[in-house]
Amino acid sequence: MKIIVQKFGGSSLTTREKRMQAADKVIAARREGYSCVVVVSAMGRTGDPYATDTLINLAKEAYKDINPRELDLLLNCGEIISAVVLCQVFTSQGFEATVLTGAQAGIITDKSFTEARILKVNPDKIIKNLQENKIVIVTGFQGVTEDGDLTTLGRGGSDTTASALGVALNAEFVEIFTDVDGIKTADPRIVKDAKTLDVITYNEICQLAQQGAKVIHPRAVEIAMQKNIPLRVRSTFEDSPGTLVTNYGESYNTVEICTDRLLTGITHVPNITQLKIFINRSENAKGLELKIFRAMALSNISIDFINVHPDQVIFTVKDDNAEKAIKIIENLGLEVQVLPGCAKVSAVGANMAGVPGVMARIVEALTEENIKILQTADSHTTIWCLVKKEDMEKAVIALHKKFNLS
Ligand code: ADP
Ligand code: ASP
Ligand code: MG
Repeated sequence: MKIIVQKFGGSSLTTREKRMQAADKVIAARREGYSCVVVVSAMGRTGDPYATDTLINLAKEAYKDINPRELDLLLNCGEIISAVVLCQVFTSQGFEATVLTGAQAGIITDKSFTEARILKVNPDKIIKNLQENKIVIVTGFQGVTEDGDLTTLGRGGSDTTASALGVALNAEFVEIFTDVDGIKTADPRIVKDAKTLDVITYNEICQLAQQGAKVIHPRAVEIAMQKNIPLRVRSTFEDSPGTLVTNYGESYNTVEICTDRLLTGITHVPNITQLKIFINRSENAKGLELKIFRAMALSNISIDFINVHPDQVIFTVKDDNAEKAIKIIENLGLEVQVLPGCAKVSAVGANMAGVPGVMARIVEALTEENIKILQTADSHTTIWCLVKKEDMEKAVIALHKKFNLS
C-alpha cells in the first residue's frame, strides 16, 4: 500500500467551494494509486464561526481563566466539525470515507493540555480503514492521554498530526495544503514579491518556522526529518508543485537542492515586550540573575534576546506574559524598565555562518529606513533584530530587498 498524508489548513476549508477544491486534491492522489489519509484543521481563522480562535474567545468571554483540560475539550470540536463536513464532500461523490478523531487515530500524548507532545502513534485503525479502500479523514491538532483525556498539540498543530501520521504510516509523502503556493522568502502578506522556494532542507525550514514563518509548524518538520519523510507545502487552490522539504543533497524529480544561498528568508514575530532589570551591586546582589531566570522558568515564561551585563539583565517576553513577568521581577525587589510594542525580525540562513559582512548589510538596510535597532542577537544560522512593532513590516521589506531575495 503506498500511502500519502494530505493536510488541509483552516483557510482551505471555509467554504463549500474550497472544500471541493481540497477534495479534488485527494481524489487526484487516489487516481495516482495512493491510499489517502486526510488531516484537517478547524475551518477558517479568527472571526469565522468554528475557527479555533472563535472557540477560545467563546470560552474566555465570561471568565478569562479556563481550565486547560476543559479548553482542550472545546478546541477538539473545531477539527471534528471540519472533518465531518469534508467527509460529506467525499461521500456525496460516491467515495467511501470515514472520520477518525486524534484519539481514534491512535495519537497518544503527554498531559500538557493545550501544548501536548505526541508520545506514540498506533495507526492500526487507520490502516484497517485504508485496507477497506476508504479515504480516512483525521482531525488534526488532537491527541489523547493514556488516561483518556483529550488534548491539543499547540497552535498550528495540525501540521504536527500530519507529520506524525506520515512517520507512523511510513507514507511516501506528507503534503501540507494551504492558502499560499509554497514556502517563501518572507511572509507574502508583508513582502508582495517574496519568492516561492522550489526546494528547502529540513534544517532551513525548521529555522524559518521557529523564527515565526507560520506556514508550517516547526515540530512537524522535526518529526518528518527524523524519518526522512518528504514534505511538500503547496496551494489548495492552484496546481503548482509548491515547495519540497527534504534533506540536503537529495533531489526529487530532477529538482536539485540549491546549496549556495546565503539567506533562506526573513521572518517576523510581533507582540514582544523588552524588559531591562537594573541590578544595584552595592546591595546584596549575589545570584540575582539566577533568581530572575529561575523565577521565569518556574512560571513557565519563555524568554528571548537574553543579555546579561554586570549591572543589567535584559530579555524579552511575549506581550501576553509581560504583566506576569513584571510582577515576578518586582516581587524580587528589583527595578524594571518595560518597553512594550516590540517585534523580532530575523534573517535566517544556514549558509551565513562565517560569512563576513552579513551584520553590516542588516544594519545598513535598517539604518537606510531610519529603523531603530533596540537589541540584536545571533547564532550560526540566524541574526535577530528587535525593533518597534510599527517598524516591523518596513524592516522585513528592507532586509528582503537588501539580500536580493525576490
Ligand atoms: P493554514 O490555515 O493552511 O495552516 P497558516 O495561516 O497556518 O495556514 O499558514 C499559511 C500562512 O503563513 C500564509 O497565509 C502566509 O501569510 C504565512 N506565512 C508566513 N511566513 C511565510 C513564508 N515564509 N512562506 C509562506 N507563507 C508564510
Ligand atoms: N486549528 C488549530 C489552530 O488554529 C490547529 C491548526 O490550525 O493547525 O491552531
Ligand atoms: Mg497552519
